[in-house]
Amino acid sequence: MADRKKRRTPTKKGISASLIDDVLAELYASIKKEKGGHLPDYIPELAKADPDQFGIVIATVDGSIYAVGDCDVPFTIQSISKPFAFGLALEDHGMDEVLRRVGVEPSGDAFNSIVFDQRANRPFNPMVNAGAIVTSSLVTGPSLSPRVQRVRDMFERYIGHPVDVDEAVFGSEKATGHRNRAIAHLELNFGMLVEPIDEHLDLYFQQCSMLVTARDLARMAATLANGGLNPATGVQAIDPGYVKNVISVMNFCGMYDYSGEWGYRIGLPAKSGVAGGVIAVLPGVMGIGVFSPPLDERGNSYRGIKVCETLSQRFGLNMFDVAEGAISSIRRSYDAATVSSKRTRSQTERGALDRHGAAIKVVELRGRIHFAAIEQISRLSAALPDSVSHLILDLARADMVEPQAALLIVQLMAGQAKAGRIVRLAMWRDSACGEAMARAGADFTTVFADADTALEWAENDVLAKVDAQADGEPQATLAEMNLLRGLDDGLLDALATALEKHDLPAGSHIVREGDPASDLYFLARGTVTVSLNTGDGHRVRLTTLDPGVAFGEMALVDGAPRSADIIADTDVSVYVLSLERLDALSLTAPAVHAALLRNIGRELSQRLRKANREIRSFTEVAA
Ligand code: GLN
Repeated sequence: MADRKKRRTPTKKGISASLIDDVLAELYASIKKEKGGHLPDYIPELAKADPDQFGIVIATVDGSIYAVGDCDVPFTIQSISKPFAFGLALEDHGMDEVLRRVGVEPSGDAFNSIVFDQRANRPFNPMVNAGAIVTSSLVTGPSLSPRVQRVRDMFERYIGHPVDVDEAVFGSEKATGHRNRAIAHLELNFGMLVEPIDEHLDLYFQQCSMLVTARDLARMAATLANGGLNPATGVQAIDPGYVKNVISVMNFCGMYDYSGEWGYRIGLPAKSGVAGGVIAVLPGVMGIGVFSPPLDERGNSYRGIKVCETLSQRFGLNMFDVAEGAISSIRRSYDAATVSSKRTRSQTERGALDRHGAAIKVVELRGRIHFAAIEQISRLSAALPDSVSHLILDLARADMVEPQAALLIVQLMAGQAKAGRIVRLAMWRDSACGEAMARAGADFTTVFADADTALEWAENDVLAKVDAQADGEPQATLAEMNLLRGLDDGLLDALATALEKHDLPAGSHIVREGDPASDLYFLARGTVTVSLNTGDGHRVRLTTLDPGVAFGEMALVDGAPRSADIIADTDVSVYVLSLERLDALSLTAPAVHAALLRNIGRELSQRLRKANREIRSFTEVAA
């Protein structure tokens, strides 16, 4: 639990706003226009609400909050208190005892219906009033006030701040709640309630009159989604063993006689309240809180239902829409100053990438790409500094992209591009991910097969922009060779007499795996690729070398046979130094020999450092 840290949504709007904020704002604007539903008047105080007030909040299990509209307007929680009070009753009495007094079957009836299960005379479930009044009676305590305090403390654990009772609403409901009183008396008659029933009813009315905001509701829902642990405060709001029971009754009974269709259309456990609140939970991912007072004919917030339905479709949140594979998240993210492509570059380019590589960000995803991963990418890209000019989304190792997630990726790419950032995808066109992205309308003209080729392309782009790339055909003189740094003209001349220059056509196999190592090569023109033959006709690229880079130098150190193939990508020029000549140099020009070995040592240690940085980026999990 200690590793669950609090994270905040970035408030600064960088190169782009968050994709999730954008989608939410769009959805808010369109649903705000919907004028359906009526204010409830059976609790007179509730009829005074402002029907135009409307707020939506999403809270993720890792602490992000997305809020739009009237998110901080207080209203009474009403029936949304029911699943939470049910959780408290479970903690007080355990599952079996609670089940003896209140069922967990959908009633298919209205929230205030006076029906009981015929065999046991039990209320059908804790989400309708009859069940909720029994649940409240099960909240233990010596008298009314400490019992009310226990309910308040419980809400505070879920929300993160103390809650107050709206005395006007409480008074209004207490004065007019004859139907609930009648239900309680029947339950007393059936033995489902025990005295003092007036105290239980008072507790129930106060519990329903506690003031919350849409933001509070989203936090409560996110806490349920997070196994009962409040993502913002790290407080355990409910025994984690009972969270599944609470979510399960919300799923089957939370929307009264609309629960079945709700599940069918939306597929998220939810609960509504007569003051216009709605919560929905996507276990393991997030909670939603909506506030809009007008109610439909079943007593559920009219706009609240529309919001949840649209969010579920737009973000692909239906809990039962589960394809194979675990839900993914970002596997890791890194920049090009830390991890470079498999291209071995000249010192100048390497230096430039050390300085400017942070402009390239790579985000690697695994598993099944669902809303949860998109939300993370959205947050990450919104928080990137404007200096990040290239963003690579690496889907090459992802199993699949959910259709809605694919649409969101396309929208994210368009948004980022509009703000001036270059976004590229790395994946196979004919993989499950490639097909999903194609169906979502992704542009395939600049898709890369893997993160490495994408990274190499982005490095080149950045190098060109900072003018660190050689014009025309890349060439290097002897003095520019990485391994010959520090040699003065005299020493270079001495070395030159020992070198042979070869011009080789593209495709030349310069070094073969297994051959004895007898030469050291300095690449003066063109590029060569170091690769391994995997035996099934494929080659794995280890690195591509630019002019100025030497190869075959390991042989100098250990004399072992060649460990890979080296093939010319283009026409190339190489300077070849045979080991015999090198040995001779140690007698005729010992300074050249010593400088070479020193430079080889430095090169190897640089490579080791780079490898260490890359390994570290693998073990650090990305935000
Ligand atoms: N306090 C309200 C009642 O008992 C709660 C109903 C609701 O929110 N659906 O009638």
